[in-house]
Amino acid sequence: MESGRTILIVGGGVVGSSIAYHLRLDGHTGRVVVIERDPTYTRASSSLAMGGIRQQFSSAVNVKLAQYSTRFYTTFDRRMRVPSHTPKVNFRQRGYLFLVDDASADRFESRVERQRSIGARVERLNLDQLRVRMPDIRLDDIRFGVFGPHDGYLEPREVLAGFRAAASAADVDYVTAEVVDLVMRSGQVEGVVLNSGERLVADAVVNAAGPFASRLAAMAGIHLPVEPVRQHLFRCALPEQWPYRFPMVIDPTGVHWRHDDALTIATPDQLIVAHTKLDEPPGESFTCDLSRWMSDFRPQLARRVPRLEPLELIEGWAGLYAMTPDHNPVLGEHPLARRFFLANGFSGHGLMLAPAIGKALSELIRIGRPETVDVTCFAPDRFDRDAPVHDEAMI
Ligand SMILES: Cc1cc2nc3c(=O)[nH]c(=O)nc-3n(C[C@H](O)[C@H](O)[C@H](O)COP(=O)(O)OP(=O)(O)OC[C@H]3O[C@@H](n4cnc5c(N)ncnc54)[C@H](O)[C@@H]3O)c2cc1C
Repeated sequence: MESGRTILIVGGGVVGSSIAYHLRLDGHTGRVVVIERDPTYTRASSSLAMGGIRQQFSSAVNVKLAQYSTRFYTTFDRRMRVPSHTPKVNFRQRGYLFLVDDASADRFESRVERQRSIGARVERLNLDQLRVRMPDIRLDDIRFGVFGPHDGYLEPREVLAGFRAAASAADVDYVTAEVVDLVMRSGQVEGVVLNSGERLVADAVVNAAGPFASRLAAMAGIHLPVEPVRQHLFRCALPEQWPYRFPMVIDPTGVHWRHDDALTIATPDQLIVAHTKLDEPPGESFTCDLSRWMSDFRPQLARRVPRLEPLELIEGWAGLYAMTPDHNPVLGEHPLARRFFLANGFSGHGLMLAPAIGKALSELIRIGRPETVDVTCFAPDRFDRDAPVHDEAMI
């Protein structure tokens, strides 16, 4: 596409804003407009996320995307600083630590081998090495740990604010409006209709609508297999000044938690805790079921780290994962709606992939092919072709 053309991005979360930023970074000189219906981002996944960043995937494409993003996040605060905003994503590379029990040992042994063969940085930790890192942790049922030393966590809202401010400073327009229809002609998307009735004409339209992506795709007559699925998080206060900082720890039960550093020295550190409910029904529910804290979060956590027993719950919240059938994203121009580009279905990994996705979509839109990381396996029609992508390292 010629660099002077107009590109409309629907959805101004981390993904839409990263695409806008990368389009400018890569030299697109035409108009770039991000249409976001809620500039407070109350229900956007980007502002409700846990902040985990890891390269421990088991497919080469996801490892490469995550490595691009990890490098990007290590310099985010400096790179994305603009006169109107100084980001503070506070990327703490304290690692992702999978605790491996008897039942999962064989699976993790081969996963580690595979991850190393595709270039992911992973270490196998024996029980003594685990005890050195976390002396309080109970290891009676654990065989070993798998640790990603470059992984870690950051502040999701700061990522969002940083991308948005940097994109705005690079002459990207943010419009507050809801897209209620797409303008189609001869199998090609030519613009959008806003809730005000106004029509905006475009040379390309990008679907970056997060968990609401399938609604937008339906406006182009496309069935997009992306379903919103509720995910809970709880924040709790550590019962005492903790002698060390937790990495992201993933228990064999599925409970995982990370440190949330105190903002002042006077207050104790906190934890953010997650536990994906595998049979959570799809739907746009943001209701936080507080009973889950006592039923399937707290007991597993206190069993693994008994010294955490007096934990105090501070708050819980729920947001939406955008799930696809193979738990991998959908990226690229849709063959049945030309000039309609999809960046959807991140299935709980959109924050950690957002920088690389911005780069990939910028390439797909501007030059029609990926250059930095080959993302063609994530093409939007892969489910119709029965060509899902397999990556077993999903939490
Ligand atoms: C509880 C929870 C924990 C998570 N933890 C992690 C994690 O640790 N690590 C990680 O990598 N990922 C995590 N994720 C996933 C991650 O948050 C998402 O993959 C990522 O934020 C997706 O960004 P997005 O920009 O695509 O979507 P969103 O942030 O949801 O943004 C989409 C935007 O589109 C707007 N929009 C939708 N439809 C329209 C329309 N018709 N017109 C105008 N605007 C529209 C919405 O208002 C919204 O602001 C988590 C998600 C949740 C819910």
